[in-house]
Amino acid sequence: MRPAPDRLSINTATLRAQWSLAEIVDGLARHGIHGIAPWRDQVANLGLAASAARIRDAGLTVTGYCRGGMFPAIDAAGRAAALDDNRRAVDEAVALGARCLVLVVGGLPKDPRGAPVSRDLGAARGMVRDGIGALLEHARAARMPLAIEPLHPMYAADRACVNTLAQANDLCDELAPSDGAALGVAVDAYHVWWDPALEREIARAGRAGRLHAWHICDWLVPTTDLLNDRGMMGDGVIDLPRIRGWMEAAGYEGLHEVEIFSTRWWAEDADRVLDTCRARHRDAS
Ligand code: ZN
Repeated sequence: MRPAPDRLSINTATLRAQWSLAEIVDGLARHGIHGIAPWRDQVANLGLAASAARIRDAGLTVTGYCRGGMFPAIDAAGRAAALDDNRRAVDEAVALGARCLVLVVGGLPKDPRGAPVSRDLGAARGMVRDGIGALLEHARAARMPLAIEPLHPMYAADRACVNTLAQANDLCDELAPSDGAALGVAVDAYHVWWDPALEREIARAGRAGRLHAWHICDWLVPTTDLLNDRGMMGDGVIDLPRIRGWMEAAGYEGLHEVEIFSTRWWAEDADRVLDTCRARHRDAS
């Protein structure tokens, strides 16, 4: 079955080269799109209160706030600073009325210039577990769900050392057993489509009530850039309708958030991008 058009949400990274947050909000309203997932830098540019008011006035559902995470650091002071920043992200997500705060958990600890200073991936994963565990208290008090987003393993060193949905589910089981409302997952097709355990792990997350977000785009063959060559739905090899079926069978009732980091699409007219998102959401996702 085709997805209902009102399920479409747009992650603002998709249009970040063309439009400011205010322009994106206006554009979504113009195109009859009901969901948005803003990034912190764009919200900071417009101002938190102004962003919240503008999004609320446009009647948009905030399908997620991007992003918290980046927990590993070389020393305790760095990890404490990351935790403070994550608490602020929780508060901002509350002000925006977001459905969840998306966590891109971070990779290996880095020096101030961004170069990895460790090969100990296990230790980094321990820092992620401890960081999420520490953040949970604040997030629970604020009633803001945290959504761990597993990233494709090609990002394990620099962006996220949680790389499969099973790993994210294990973290949730350890830190918040039977509290999927407090700690869950964001399933991004781009990152997990290849995983042979995906259907099983989506079902597992659904049973625990922890499916907080569904991000869509496509995997191009060939992919020419690790970060900024994501495809429009229908242009690549991900069987999005099939995976959406697994999400829905697992109880997911939220929106479908288009998140496309792409130098190709950033070079297109923004209104044309939104037209294409609507069409491909209908026909290819
Ligand atoms: Zn995502």
